[in-house]
Amino acid sequence: MNLNLLKAISEAPGVSGFEYGVPTLIRKELGGHTDGMREDRFGNLYVSKGNGKRTLMVAAHTDEIGLIVKHIDDKGFIRFAKLGGVPDHILLAQRVSVHGMKERVRGVIGCKAIHVMKDEEKKQLVTYDKMFIDTGATKDQLSKMGVSVGTPITMERGLTELKGDLVVAKAMDDRAGCYMLIEALKIAKPANKVVGVFTVQEEVGLRGATMSAFAVKPDIGIAIDTTIAGDHPEIGESEAPVKLGYGPVILAADGRRDSLGGGLIANPIIRGWIMDLADKSKIPYQLEVLEGGTTDATAMQLAHEGVPAGCISIPSRYVHSFSEVVSKKDLDSGVKLLAKMMESKLPF
Ligand SMILES: [Zn+2]
Repeated sequence: MNLNLLKAISEAPGVSGFEYGVPTLIRKELGGHTDGMREDRFGNLYVSKGNGKRTLMVAAHTDEIGLIVKHIDDKGFIRFAKLGGVPDHILLAQRVSVHGMKERVRGVIGCKAIHVMKDEEKKQLVTYDKMFIDTGATKDQLSKMGVSVGTPITMERGLTELKGDLVVAKAMDDRAGCYMLIEALKIAKPANKVVGVFTVQEEVGLRGATMSAFAVKPDIGIAIDTTIAGDHPEIGESEAPVKLGYGPVILAADGRRDSLGGGLIANPIIRGWIMDLADKSKIPYQLEVLEGGTTDATAMQLAHEGVPAGCISIPSRYVHSFSEVVSKKDLDSGVKLLAKMMESKLPF
């Protein structure tokens, strides 16, 4: 486990559309380990290795959920919009970084103190439109630091190790996926042409994967992401059976809660291929049908005349909370499994 890399990549700021810091870090980390790297005008980073006839595309998204400046009032208080699925109830009192063009400004998300709330207000969820960011700076000072409408905002959350092989950090969705793709690209001796794509703008509609799958034209597309671990109070086992520490998750299907529409039904041959490789290499894994979310694989499957696609996820507690908990052992197993896939004959 390369904990330094996991820490650096999770702490790097990169909300959807403003991922800049993350590809730079990945380029540095993978220098000398690949056969080529390029970035497109949208910000997707393509890393290739191997030169077989068939192409395996593996996508991990670099963007994280966060906020963007919507309005600055005369006193310098900032109102914001959300980039991606940010739940209101985890925003309050978060420390943030407002990424001005000239300076990174620290701030805190505030709202009315409980003492001045009316009884019925106290019982209600404070919604994000009732919150604001306080940086201590005036409107003029913010402007001088390059903060304006459209400035991206990330949470200030460092990686911390917990007991029992766990770590908590922001943006494990999907820096955990980026981590695994980097580490697998380093060690794999590919039997095929492998193109690792570090995609942008996944959290706002799988945008980077949509165009990069057209650019790569893969024979197989695999997304690497995180998924809901339900092994804690307040989630029933049948609601989210995936657990931390039981290995990476091989996806069967995902999509909207009502119908699994708008998602991926993983190609059964690809799913079988991955399970087979895991069995042969004695890598533990879990199977999953996920209601209420999807990944870059959904976009990849629809490129050109269709791309057989699958997805491997790492179990994560408190997804989209800025304090996402994953197991180091699962990450290690994920890297091993991914490297095996790169080194094996593709089923298509
Ligand atoms: Zn994700």
